Order: sequence, then C-alpha cells, then structure tokens
Amino acid sequence: MCIFCDIISGKIPSSKVYEDDDVLAILDVSQVTFGHTLVMPKKHVADILEADEETVVKCAKVISKLSKQIVHNTGAAGCNVLNNCGEVAGQTVHHLHFHIIPRYSESDAVCFQFNESEKQNLAKVLEKVKG
Ligand code: AMP
Ligand code: ZN
Repeated sequence: MCIFCDIISGKIPSSKVYEDDDVLAILDVSQVTFGHTLVMPKKHVADILEADEETVVKCAKVISKLSKQIVHNTGAAGCNVLNNCGEVAGQTVHHLHFHIIPRYSESDAVCFQFNESEKQNLAKVLEKVKG
C-alpha cells in the first residue's frame, strides 16, 4: 500500500524504537538530528485530516512518552514535534506520521521561520477559523 505499511508489515526493515498493537515508532533514515524518530499508526491513513480522533490520540500518547524518553536518553536540550500534512506542507510519505526531532542547539539541522504576514483582522480570522 505504501512504504510505511511495508515497514509495519515487516516487508521493509526498520529501526524500531517502540511498538504496540496500534502504533509503531522507528528511527527516521534521514536523522535530521541524532535520534530523529517517526511515530505512526499501524492502520493506514494518509494524514491528520483523514485520521479519526482515536488514531490521533493513540499516536499522541506515544509521542508524549517517547519525546520524554528520547530527550532524556540522548541528552538533547529539547525537541520539535512535527506533522507535515499535505504536499504543500512538505509531506512526502502519505501515511500519517509525527516527527520527534531532538534539539541540541538552536543552530542544529532544523530551521523554522515564522514570517509575519500583512496585519490581519483577528476578529475576521477567528470567524473564518471557527466556521
Ligand atoms: P514527511 O516529509 O513528513 O512525509 O517525512 C517522511 C520521512 O520519512 C522523511 O523524513 C524520510 O527520511 C523518512 N523515511 C522515508 N523512508 C523511510 C524508511 N524506509 N525508513 C525510515 N524513514 C523513512
Ligand atoms: Zn501506509
């Protein structure tokens, strides 16, 4: 079905960090930083927009446990927890997954920059976002 489904079924080898009945966590081959880990549901779902709440909650519990474990065991100073949803957001594997990226310094391999756009009318934004 997809490369992560092949990893989950054992067809493709991986470095397993954690596994239970519903969730698998593996080391990301790219290792953006040392210990970079991916948390994914075993059930195939493309992204967070398609996932049911229960699936996301199961992943969140593992993210909560592993982020603490990984930061503690690697000696990182913190971490980024990241989900790319859709190609526009940089998603390349279309099986829901969350990145746990340990951070050792502000200048290591991860760079996020939030640029402020033109001033928004927050009341209008809120109305749109809440629907
Ligand atoms: P994203 O861009 O959020 O879809 O992230 C996909 C991630 O999957 C990338 O960081 C890849 O390095 C990682 N990846 C792709 N193939 C494998 C694989 N066989 N084993 C582990 N990680 C993989
Ligand atoms: Zn899949």
